[in-house]
Amino acid sequence: MTDFLQEANRILPDLILWRRDFHQFPELRFEETRTARIVAQYLTSLGIQTQTGVGKTGVVGLITGKKPGPTALLRFDMDALPIQEETGLDYQSQNPGVMHACGHDGHTAIGMGVAKILSDHRDELVGNVKLAFQPAEEGTGGALAMIEDGILENPKVDLTLGLHLQSQTPSGTLLIGEGPILAAADKFKIWVKGKGGHGALPHETVDAVVIASQIVNMLQTIVSRNVNQMGTVILSIGSFHAGSAFNIIAETAELSGTIRTYDKDLQKLVHRRMAEIVENTAKALGGSAGVDIKTIVPAAVNDPAVSAQVRELAVEMIGAGRISTDQRDTPSDDIAEFLQAAPGCHFILGAGGPEYAPHHNPKFNFDENALPLGVALLCASVAHFLK
Ligand SMILES: [Zn+2]
Ligand SMILES: [Zn+2]
Repeated sequence: MTDFLQEANRILPDLILWRRDFHQFPELRFEETRTARIVAQYLTSLGIQTQTGVGKTGVVGLITGKKPGPTALLRFDMDALPIQEETGLDYQSQNPGVMHACGHDGHTAIGMGVAKILSDHRDELVGNVKLAFQPAEEGTGGALAMIEDGILENPKVDLTLGLHLQSQTPSGTLLIGEGPILAAADKFKIWVKGKGGHGALPHETVDAVVIASQIVNMLQTIVSRNVNQMGTVILSIGSFHAGSAFNIIAETAELSGTIRTYDKDLQKLVHRRMAEIVENTAKALGGSAGVDIKTIVPAAVNDPAVSAQVRELAVEMIGAGRISTDQRDTPSDDIAEFLQAAPGCHFILGAGGPEYAPHHNPKFNFDENALPLGVALLCASVAHFLK
């Protein structure tokens, strides 16, 4: 059997070079043109059939195995964040106000490493590998944009694989869970309409501040009183805007917030209860209100069979003691869109420890020595499912 970890360790210097280059020149959502150009040039140099402009700035490499078979899609996100870097690293961001603070520079480097190793093993593959270098993971629909541009077809994708490195999880460890692993993210807006008037004559008004305040309180009962406590739901109000002066009763108010769920039925329940509470609370106080909810990302769900298999390959590679199934977390990732389209496994690559800053922090960094394990496990998974 091929020792993919050994092969991946051999290209560690390349992985670090690529990662630091991307780190120095981070690009925001749908602006990843430099990154995409470097990726596309490298894939082409490996003889991989490469398509650019998929989902605006995405790149797709297609490795065709020697014999026909299923197609695995591997997702690597490329976008950075609007954050001013404060790490002081000698390879720190050269682009003011833009930083790779989520590790997507590492993911892109891992993708190039996977491309190198899998193209070396092309003749052993039964089926195809689609390397999806995705733009705009950070909340702006890069996965959907690639899907709209047809990435799931020609050839049709049967399996999804992906990873996310994690700065505060010890290097050399993996989290490989099954079932829902990342939450669905909804955003909502609530509008409230009352009747404005003089602050000294409240009986002539319908106070939008009072209505909106009651709505904020009533919404807290959804998680505490409507949701089965075996399920997990988060409902947070992020903004509350009303009023213009100290002696005027506000005519309107606007609230916004987010909902996080793992289960479609619970998500539906929350949507229904929100509408009931918002409309009826306003009505009870003599005003009117409505809510508009948009799902940004569905929950990411790992296929149990695929994930068990990936875990087994990981155990062979690094031993059971460094692998946990405890992967469930509340952020979202639009790899969920690919996992919904084709079953698969998205795992967490430990790349640091408690001494590292968290993701989306100006001091974020991770341990580059963790990169080969990510490359190796993706390659071993492809080799297993395409044999
Ligand atoms: Zn992020
Ligand atoms: Zn991320």
